[in-house]
Amino acid sequence: MSHWACGIEGDDETFDRVEDLVVHQASDHDRVECGVCGALVPDGYFAIRHVLDDHSRQAYVRAYEASPEAVRRREEILETVETEADLNEIVERLEG
Ligand SMILES: [Zn+2]
Ligand SMILES: [Zn+2]
Repeated sequence: MSHWACGIEGDDETFDRVEDLVVHQASDHDRVECGVCGALVPDGYFAIRHVLDDHSRQAYVRAYEASPEAVRRREEILETVETEADLNEIVERLEG
């Protein structure tokens, strides 16, 4: 059973392991420019983490005209990935 769908730009590829999904998002997709500070960040989980961890919710909402639901959805994604994923493995695989 595949549980994790990529979802970037309609990509419907699915993965059994969340680690595989995050590595795929960060390595197979182009980097995206942060709408708040202009930094180039890997797409998917890392892009969400960047914008929520490095910027205030207000800055994020202003830059993306995000609804409270959109913010909450991203917070849920972060929480889910961080609960389920071995982030050390992901970083090692991306750096390796
Ligand atoms: Zn993808
Ligand atoms: Zn930024």
